[in-house]
Amino acid sequence: MSTAYRGRFAPTPSGPLHAGSLLAAVASYLDARHHGGNWSVRLEDVDPPRCPSGSADTILRQLEAFGLEWDASNDAHDIIHGVRYQSRRHDAYAAALEQLKLGRVVYPCVCSRKQWRDFPLYPGWCRTRRTPPAEAHAWRLDIRAAEQWGGNTAIAGWEDRLQGHVQLDLATLGDVILKRRDGLWAYQLAVIVDDADQGITDVVRGLDLLDNSPWQRLLQAALGLPMPRLTHLPLITADNGQKLSKQNLAPALPESPHAIRQRLHHTLELLGQDPPRELAGASPEEQLGHAIPRWSLAAIGKTPTLSAATHL
Ligand code: GLU
Repeated sequence: MSTAYRGRFAPTPSGPLHAGSLLAAVASYLDARHHGGNWSVRLEDVDPPRCPSGSADTILRQLEAFGLEWDASNDAHDIIHGVRYQSRRHDAYAAALEQLKLGRVVYPCVCSRKQWRDFPLYPGWCRTRRTPPAEAHAWRLDIRAAEQWGGNTAIAGWEDRLQGHVQLDLATLGDVILKRRDGLWAYQLAVIVDDADQGITDVVRGLDLLDNSPWQRLLQAALGLPMPRLTHLPLITADNGQKLSKQNLAPALPESPHAIRQRLHHTLELLGQDPPRELAGASPEEQLGHAIPRWSLAAIGKTPTLSAATHL
């Protein structure tokens, strides 16, 4: 890869990591280290009511326990212990929104979810608004702006390093909210501002975010930011076949050193990396050290879901 690789793991601290988020952490870590790259951790705590206090620290402790050592970011005021917290980045997101307003790719929206509940997507009723109304309003991205940067082909289509050529359609995704009516920043805006600010070249994350990528690529085009390479990983499903998530009470990751070793080994197996059986009881550092030079994205395969042994 040409530019120096910079990767990141960017969990939302709405609860501890589970098998699915561990898979994304391990894959993004190994991909970065395999390429001799930098790997940072960013806590995406833009929605404080969804992020119980203590979850961020729990996630950092879990990453340490699994041997996933991150590179400290610089010493800007929003960084604690080398980790960026989005809750401290208000000014940067506000500046990006101002730029988007000037470019006329966003519009203020006063509609409530209830008003358009009979539609599959927000129908864009506020698209013609030019000046922000006095009442509380959200800011939405106008997906029609994509035409200026090559439309769907260039914005909603890309070569995913794992999925191959992906082509989505912005019209089926709609005008996403970038700043909520209650003043909170939305993930779509925060993630691209920080990826650019941190010089991220490679985003490695779960397939659940595949259809968020067109919005993010449109924002990057509109703000003149580089578009990182994208790699979307299979999702781990729970026993009932549903995506594992905090909402469906994914089992917590193990805490005992023995179980952590087994679980890491199993995660490498799920990722198709074929870790040697005799390393199943080895320290995380040893298992990861073995996996880094042998890392293969192709070995993961394009399967959309993986079924994990979460009892380990
Ligand atoms: N914060 C997002 C999440 O936990 C992931 C962000 C990303 O990797 O782009 O789902």
